[in-house]
Amino acid sequence: MTGVAVSGAAGRMGETVCEAVDGADDLKLVGRADPSLDAPLAAVLGEADVVVDFTTPEAAPANVVECVAAGVHAVVGTTGFDVDALRREVQSARTGGANVLVAPNFAIGAVLMMRFAEQAAAQMPEVEIVELHHDRKLDAPSGTAKRTADLVREAGGNVHEPIHSVRLPGLVAHQEVILGGEGQTLTIRHDSVDRRSFMPGVLLAVRKVGELDDAFTVGLERLL
Ligand code: NAP
Repeated sequence: MTGVAVSGAAGRMGETVCEAVDGADDLKLVGRADPSLDAPLAAVLGEADVVVDFTTPEAAPANVVECVAAGVHAVVGTTGFDVDALRREVQSARTGGANVLVAPNFAIGAVLMMRFAEQAAAQMPEVEIVELHHDRKLDAPSGTAKRTADLVREAGGNVHEPIHSVRLPGLVAHQEVILGGEGQTLTIRHDSVDRRSFMPGVLLAVRKVGELDDAFTVGLERLL
């Protein structure tokens, strides 16, 4: 039985993760950390094998460093912080064998969207990204849009700036990658219409993070 603590447990994603962990036979929810529950991360680390962090761009890096310093694996869904800076911090804070997996999007459909965009950009290099999210999202552009842009550029694509960010009530998490060529366009679109879309990916990451070869991994695709 793997002990899982959730950081940001009172948030929209954190609550959904707690339900998903509770519903998994091989996982045990051992702690919920959140300021509104008056429960700091330190109080729930003792029993945890893995911490899942869905907090804020300000809180997540310090939470991850606290986890690895305590020898606890971290699965991080929070977006909007400097991932390369965190990688460097983790390398110096890591004392035991704890691993970190950071994924800007845990929905399998979004991972496929990024993969298809990367493939398509090699043939149709002019690319626009439009990401659409609920109006309480703190960061813009989204972590998924920034990751898509990196992958498209690595494939030789030209991502037009700026990435377009739409924030409206009623939305959850959506993205279009539009590729334009002579007399044609190709649109690749993904929609998360419910936060449960992220849960199979989160649970996969919880189960596999300890087996990763690298101490710091970015992208759910590394587990698929
Ligand atoms: P949310 O509803 O605002 O939840 C964040 C929670 O974290 C809040 O309850 C907040 O408490 C709490 N928190 C703040 N500082 C904390 C700390 N130091 N330790 C523990 N908890 C802390 O936000 P959300 O919609 O769940 O989104 C959370 C993050 O996940 C965002 O960065 C979002 O972009 C990202 N996200 C990622 C994916 C993915 O697939 N990777 C999918 C959806 C969302 P207070 O309100 O009291 O500050």
